[in-house]
Amino acid sequence: PAGAEILSVSDLQAWYGESHILHGINFNVKAGEVVTLLGRNGAGKTTTLKSVMGIIGKRTGSIRFNGQDITRAPSDRIARQGIAFCPEERGIFASLDVRENLLLPPIVRGGGLSLDQIFELFPNLKERLNSQGTKLSGGEQQMLAIARILRTGARFLMLDEPTEGLAPVIIQQIGHTIARLKSEGFTILLVEQNFRFASTVADRYYIVEHGKVIDGFANSELSANMDKLHTYLGV
Ligand code: ATP
Repeated sequence: PAGAEILSVSDLQAWYGESHILHGINFNVKAGEVVTLLGRNGAGKTTTLKSVMGIIGKRTGSIRFNGQDITRAPSDRIARQGIAFCPEERGIFASLDVRENLLLPPIVRGGGLSLDQIFELFPNLKERLNSQGTKLSGGEQQMLAIARILRTGARFLMLDEPTEGLAPVIIQQIGHTIARLKSEGFTILLVEQNFRFASTVADRYYIVEHGKVIDGFANSELSANMDKLHTYLGV
């Protein structure tokens, strides 16, 4: 149901080999929300998403999704719970065309979007159906990357810096896409450096600094928190 806590992360710590990167990440996401993790380069935002997806070797603390403990679950089981991750690098297969890229991901749950539903959401992709990954613009690649995770059937989407390197008009389209997905009941956890963009889509924010969540507030509390944003993000 809308408003129920769907993801709850407490005292998450994570390591890459010997490097201790996350030192206490605490946040939650409720069903139907868009929640954004903000923070400087290297603060640990991507590592947090990877930890939730189960693709960081060593993690401790607690990650609960829909009431289930997934802290130490393997990533394939986490995917089958309905969580999908769209990495910053987008991961488009250069030698495959748009259609092939869309047909590749495993459908891990029922309810994944059909190609027709994908094309209704991303009309550009339909026009580019037979174009190779290498021939797509940055914006088209980002749309394809989002479209691809919608094929899996996941209803909880983690998007890592979807606007990076894109032109303002494309960023606006991505904003519309996120708003549309939210209106269709998807829950979205976003990592963003572009605060202006984040403020057009987010319900709530958390600030990550040196591997910890140091603050969190709602979009409605934004003006009271501008000083903090200035201090921690240089906004
Ligand atoms: P960015 O926007 O730069 O990705 P971020 O907040 O997402 O910033 P992370 O990518 O989570 O930050 O990185 C957190 C820290 O972990 C950084 O100090 C980074 O150098 C380190 N790190 C990231 N990936 C690895 C890795 N594969 N091996 C070792 N250290 C890593």
